[in-house]
Amino acid sequence: MEPAKFSIGLGNNDAKIRSDASKDYVEFWASQAKRLSWFKAWDTTLEWNPPFARWFVGGKINASYNALDIHQNQKDKPAILWEGENEERHTITYGELFSDVQKVSNGLKSLGVEKGDRVTIYLPMVPEIMVAMLACARIGAIHTVIFSGFSAASVHDRVVDSQSKIIITADGGYRRGVIVKLKEVVDAAIENLDFVQNVIVLRRTKIPISQNKKDLFWEDIVRDSPDVCGAEPLESTHPLYILYTSGTTGKPKGVLHDTGGYLTHLHSTFRWAFDIKDSDVYFCTADIGWVTGHSYVAYGPLLCGATQVMYEGAPDYPSQSRMWDILQRYKVTIFYTTPTALRMFMKYGDAIPNSFDLSSLRLLGTVGEPINPEVWKWYFRTIGKDKCPIIDTWWQTETGGMMLSPLPGLETIPLKPGSATFPIPGVDIAVVDDAGKETLPDTKGYLVIRKPWPGMLLTLWGDDEKYKSVYWSKYSGFYYTGDYAIKDGDGYFWLLGRADDILKIAGHRIGTAELESSLVSHRGVAEAAVCGIPHEIKGEAIIAFLVLKEGIKVSETLQNEVMSKVRSDVGAIATPQQIYFVSKLPKTRSGKIMRRLLRAIASNEKIGDVSTLEDGAAVSEIQAAFDDIKNQIS
Ligand code: ATP
Ligand code: MG
Repeated sequence: MEPAKFSIGLGNNDAKIRSDASKDYVEFWASQAKRLSWFKAWDTTLEWNPPFARWFVGGKINASYNALDIHQNQKDKPAILWEGENEERHTITYGELFSDVQKVSNGLKSLGVEKGDRVTIYLPMVPEIMVAMLACARIGAIHTVIFSGFSAASVHDRVVDSQSKIIITADGGYRRGVIVKLKEVVDAAIENLDFVQNVIVLRRTKIPISQNKKDLFWEDIVRDSPDVCGAEPLESTHPLYILYTSGTTGKPKGVLHDTGGYLTHLHSTFRWAFDIKDSDVYFCTADIGWVTGHSYVAYGPLLCGATQVMYEGAPDYPSQSRMWDILQRYKVTIFYTTPTALRMFMKYGDAIPNSFDLSSLRLLGTVGEPINPEVWKWYFRTIGKDKCPIIDTWWQTETGGMMLSPLPGLETIPLKPGSATFPIPGVDIAVVDDAGKETLPDTKGYLVIRKPWPGMLLTLWGDDEKYKSVYWSKYSGFYYTGDYAIKDGDGYFWLLGRADDILKIAGHRIGTAELESSLVSHRGVAEAAVCGIPHEIKGEAIIAFLVLKEGIKVSETLQNEVMSKVRSDVGAIATPQQIYFVSKLPKTRSGKIMRRLLRAIASNEKIGDVSTLEDGAAVSEIQAAFDDIKNQIS
């Protein structure tokens, strides 16, 4: 690795934060929490009854107040620079957002929504999705946002699980030039659900919709509701939202977050990681339906009074240059996206980003999956032009906010392409073996969190037992992340993929990320996914699925090159038994590769819940490849 080449500093070096955090993490987080506006100070910073943590007990706070009211001395500052997929553009200031939120809060109140009631939000990426979330938060209603790509069955399951009284949706939303009929999906999802009292419909596309007794229109509510609605002082431990995880490993889990701890985590990490300044134009490409959208589109930027770009549609629609066009148009300074998106942009070739002026960029970030070093370097050079630090941020829906990441707003460190570097101050993360003992440097193991942290989930909604068994049963006293990792001799963390996906070859454990990174580093390969199938001698044999870059043809030479690359990067033991070239990989709607699906098909198991799958066609291609393998074996 060549760290020196990638040490881009922003000149910030606040060593006191790290030293304070290592002295007493509870006191440290208390000092960070004081940066927020509280209605009442807390009595106890942390109540830790393992595995349940309660932060800032006795304190009273409101998320909407901290996102809006406190910024009204700069009401004309843009909060959202919104761009529709159809090129509609609007600017929403902090003043406008504040006024819309109060009206919608009053509207919800008039429908009988009370503190603790659940409200499902099923909207496209329009500013109203933020308004709806903040309106709930203002009155203490618990929002549960469902990604607008989900089917009626997925919406149904989540509405039933959360027992939402109100659903906020739109007539439709734009995706790749097509109108997705959201209201129709909601109608099908809530048929027979008597506990749903009302459906509030935003007319985004103005398509005709069928109207039911429960329906109300967003415009009417905004027009008819009083202007002023004070923010409810809520207990710090009051739930802010339920959010279902991506479902990469199976059935989605309803993660429940509090208010005070969560906001403290976001306010801190947003500043530390993004080095946010008043002049910045921030752009995170995540949909609000995922945790990245909740934490680093909705709450994080608003708590810090940032200006951000919000984009409604697909990143490569109507052309492969859409993203770069947005960066250039709004002079984006901070760009936060996923490895999946980067691999897609890379596949389209360098000429596209090179034809745009991306000189406003000063900081880049990624989240969601391990980033292959090759992709990291491409991001650094082609997009960042060798001058922007990259923050690879590791975290989960359950952690609420970033846990491992470079923090250019706090300190300058040498970066290593593919490493999420170090834990954020005040969190204790380690790599341990099966017995829970910290592994030696450069030895693989499981990533665990050893102390509670402020963004920590309260529990899984309505299921404390599942919460205990999923996260706290593998190790006593440690939170189990389910991720496989390594800590190198310099203390840098490297994520190697999900623990469930590890390949066990002749007694060796290989993380999927190690192998896939090697495959992706071949100049012709855009994306890779690997899985193991049972093998009499080795235990498991590796099967690799590759998507090639545009213009690259499948050939025996290419196949041999890829094989020898793996042999030299990872070792002969990791050579795939078979390589399949496919046009797409099975991914979740949040863009993560679903390897469990590959495994299930390979071992004739039931595929399980695929409601979060991006594109069903990928499954049939993969199925055909496995049928082929099975025919060869039999
Ligand atoms: P489910 O838990 O339902 O299977 P999910 O884990 O995909 O879904 P999320 O909470 O959205 O749902 O994703 C968190 C996971 O994403 C992490 O546990 C890790 O596997 C992966 N991840 C996130 N960021 C990174 C990163 N920077 N590097 C490596 N992996 C990452
Ligand atoms: Mg998970």
